[in-house]
Amino acid sequence: MDLTKCFDEIRFSIPDHVRIVAVSKTKPVSMIQELHHTRNQYSFGENKVQELISKHELLPDEIDWHFIGHLQTNKVKYITPFIGLVQSVDSFRLINEINKEGVKCNRIIPCLLQIHIATEEAKFGFSIKELREMLDNKIMEDLSHVSIRGVMGMATFTYDEKQIRTEFKTLYKYFNNLRSEYFSTNNEFCEISMGMTDDYKIAIDEGSTLIRIGSGIFGGR
Ligand SMILES: *Cc1c(COP(=O)(O)O)cnc(C)c1O
Repeated sequence: MDLTKCFDEIRFSIPDHVRIVAVSKTKPVSMIQELHHTRNQYSFGENKVQELISKHELLPDEIDWHFIGHLQTNKVKYITPFIGLVQSVDSFRLINEINKEGVKCNRIIPCLLQIHIATEEAKFGFSIKELREMLDNKIMEDLSHVSIRGVMGMATFTYDEKQIRTEFKTLYKYFNNLRSEYFSTNNEFCEISMGMTDDYKIAIDEGSTLIRIGSGIFGGR
């Protein structure tokens, strides 16, 4: 199946309020252009700074680029002039750096807080405890050039659907708790980015607002 058909199948099977981020990592610019032109898809996800920069240069400015990989603080400056959403903020050091670079380019950078919900060690993200400590300390309130839009998480890589569902339920609960405790006056805190090709249906059941689909649209990598 071609990518527009794959895209349509997903688009028409999910509720309108759920947005798709087309994860284009490793895929050529021509595929991004095709989806952008034929389906009005604006949001694309990349996980490598160098690859993102090259693609950004070749594609129209209206594309809404999301960074979804582990972001090193020394590379923040390359993407802050144009990034639409940093989904993978996983440390205070990083968000502080994003803020600093936001000041420099006079942009308020939209960010999601990545929370570790999987059992695997390797995946990046805050623990809920770290996040609460950071928010309790109010150290983020001085960050004038970041806008926290919500949370992002990845489930464990497993065939056990019950476990995946439990992890997504946990992320949904964290989102709600954080919203009522720290962001109750901030309407911008509204996104729950969870769900990829193999688990987006479960994620939507459990409250996802943003799904990140790569292989399900563009084919295997
Ligand atoms: C690669 C990637 C995806 C997309 O994965 P697929 O299984 O190809 O849909 C989603 N989120 C993150 C963080 C990724 O790195």
